[in-house]
Amino acid sequence: MTTYWNEKVETASREELEEAQWGLLQETIRWLYEHVPFYTERFHQCGIKPDDIKSLEDIPQLPFTTKSDLRYHYPLHLCAVPTEEIALIQATAGTTGKPVVVPYTSHDLDRWSECMARALWSAGIRSSDICQNAYGYGLFSGGMGYHYGSQRIGCAIIPTSTGRTERQILFLRDLGTTALFCTPSYALTIAERAETLGVDLKRLPLRVGSFGAEPWTQKMKKEIEERMGIKAYEVYGLTEMMGPGVAFSCEACRLHINEDYFYPEVIDPVTERVLPEWERGELVITALQRQAMPLLRYRTGDITALGRIRCECGRTLTVMERVLGRTDDMLIISGVNVFPSQIEDILLEFEETGPHYQIKVFKKGYLDSIAVEVEAKAEIYSLGKEKIAEVENRISARLNQVIGIKAQVTLLEPGSIPRSEGKAKRVIDERKR
Ligand code: ZN
Repeated sequence: MTTYWNEKVETASREELEEAQWGLLQETIRWLYEHVPFYTERFHQCGIKPDDIKSLEDIPQLPFTTKSDLRYHYPLHLCAVPTEEIALIQATAGTTGKPVVVPYTSHDLDRWSECMARALWSAGIRSSDICQNAYGYGLFSGGMGYHYGSQRIGCAIIPTSTGRTERQILFLRDLGTTALFCTPSYALTIAERAETLGVDLKRLPLRVGSFGAEPWTQKMKKEIEERMGIKAYEVYGLTEMMGPGVAFSCEACRLHINEDYFYPEVIDPVTERVLPEWERGELVITALQRQAMPLLRYRTGDITALGRIRCECGRTLTVMERVLGRTDDMLIISGVNVFPSQIEDILLEFEETGPHYQIKVFKKGYLDSIAVEVEAKAEIYSLGKEKIAEVENRISARLNQVIGIKAQVTLLEPGSIPRSEGKAKRVIDERKR
């Protein structure tokens, strides 16, 4: 069994990769300068011309692109091709303000299929697999991206989309699904409902899951693997850059970036300085092969670190750390920077609690305060008030010890936190009301 979908790219030497990236970058810069007035203007503002960029090292001279640039140029003012060349349009959820609209040419869709095929192949998915795609189909790029990738490999696809959890379980059981695609929080929702219905997922043919679209921890991954009896892989991506498929995890649990499509940098989100390997900051990506809407130095808002290592899987593609959170999710609690995933990490240390929790941030006088509500396991909840208070105090002490915040911790009855079918809503910031 071959290990790689595209061995030539996935195991290329650094020199080969950089040479390819440099050629593609020059084409992209010229394409944008000539086709997108927004970039022509940005280049003029920065006082540079395409020819001033003489190597990959000159990339920091290029202007950034931000989410507000995309919103401001709603709907398709950053599109670099005429309408007749557009094959698909996707959009971000846009909970605040206008959605970001992302066009694709058929060439873009072909490249997207390739990126996703590499990801699914790395998870051991082959043409004999039956893939249940429980990512939302529609404007959210998760559904289509996974669809194209599994289609490229030649799998059987069940496009269940998200929701209707009991039907998901019915199909997992009756159609012999071997691979499941969804958000990690929805995977847990499915696992939990299956347990209530008395369906033992571990006894079904299901053997692998590919998850992403929200930050999750190593411990949550383990929990999904144990409850479903599968091996869990991760795919990273964002609609603005294409969708899922920017990076994918390998057998050694490292996320490799599809660097022939995406040139990654990590910057300090405040000073905008490019950071050295393994230093944490905001991920910035330049699209190298997009036609419809290539973006230069797009600020993803995702916090990660990059490194070049010799991975056990044999891939040479740059490794990115699992995303720790988003620059805009980062909570500043009385001057301390806190990511919701750090809190989740601590909650998962406790055997007395389940994986469902909510973080509430509010003002107490002039101070920012934080309250953590987490569901207790049924056998703990039934032990009564004294036991509950004891666990609450231990969690609270641990949060203070590790993150340095004083949080009010409440154990809730199992099943009392609303379940998610897409991305889980973990943080309720009451300061913004
Ligand atoms: Zn690897």
